[in-house]
Amino acid sequence: MNYIVIDLEWNQDCEGKHGKKHEKLPFEIIEIGAIKLDEQKNTVGQFNELVRPSVYKSMHRITENMVHIHMEDLQHEKTFPQIIRKFLKWCGEDVIFCTWGNLDLIELQRNMKYYHLPLLSDGPFPFLDIQKLFSIAYEDGKSRRNLEYAVDHLQIEKDIPFHRAFSDAYYAAKVLEKIDRDTEDYCSYDVCSLPAEKKAEVYKTFADYSKYISREFEDKTIAIADREVLSTKCYICNRPTKRKIKWFTPNGKHYYSVSYCDRHGYLKGKIRIKKPIFKNGGSEAVYIVKTLKLISSEKVDEIIEKRDHAREIRKIRRKQSVR
Ligand SMILES: [Zn+2]
Repeated sequence: MNYIVIDLEWNQDCEGKHGKKHEKLPFEIIEIGAIKLDEQKNTVGQFNELVRPSVYKSMHRITENMVHIHMEDLQHEKTFPQIIRKFLKWCGEDVIFCTWGNLDLIELQRNMKYYHLPLLSDGPFPFLDIQKLFSIAYEDGKSRRNLEYAVDHLQIEKDIPFHRAFSDAYYAAKVLEKIDRDTEDYCSYDVCSLPAEKKAEVYKTFADYSKYISREFEDKTIAIADREVLSTKCYICNRPTKRKIKWFTPNGKHYYSVSYCDRHGYLKGKIRIKKPIFKNGGSEAVYIVKTLKLISSEKVDEIIEKRDHAREIRKIRRKQSVR
């Protein structure tokens, strides 16, 4: 298996979010940079290509100022479909993509979709978010630092300028090399393609929690009635659990529950209702990410409090609407 550390530069509509083309392709990729690392994280390949744009003909000032790429520079480059084919060939088989943050694979695939090219996978696939890994390894796991901060923190030599696709991939790869952990335990999932059917849904057990990614549902009501979505089987022993706190929601977007496994103790369930990144179904379509995690009995009390608070609020609202 090889790591492909990828970074992109993109241009956007000079007319902003309300520009005519924004909806079709908000960010048009103009540069792809990547570093290939082998399993021991030795650099074994480099990819560095500019892309001739076809959607936006002038450079947004943010892009121009930050990346220092000018439209004239791109006129003799190959188009996105040509470059992406070359890139995927260069990647080869059996790779795990690695990015700084969680945007690059989404925008890459949004560009692929725009050109009617097949996406990177026909379902969710694991990738490494190096920005997240840096936070887990050196900070609280929640903070998100910029790449230069991480490079400084790890005392990596700054021998090329930042903010070009290749250099940022190069530095992100250097950060990844320094993170000495079993990175598989911290992988993220790309969900540009959702599981096509129930059989293809994702179940992944990490060191201290489990994750489930559902197929797409027509709407939230259907999703939240699905047996698999609501199931709280223990992710360690796979046995049924006793529901201690029924699924409840404080905000309509997140649902919580607590169950009890005779062998492993209390399990907190959390369901997040999410909108698909790419619209395939109707406007109400959703998918579910559910996590289950072992918790202490003190944590159970906190969840009971959260539920009671949500109930109180609902009661007050109901009274208000009666008046
Ligand atoms: Zn169990």
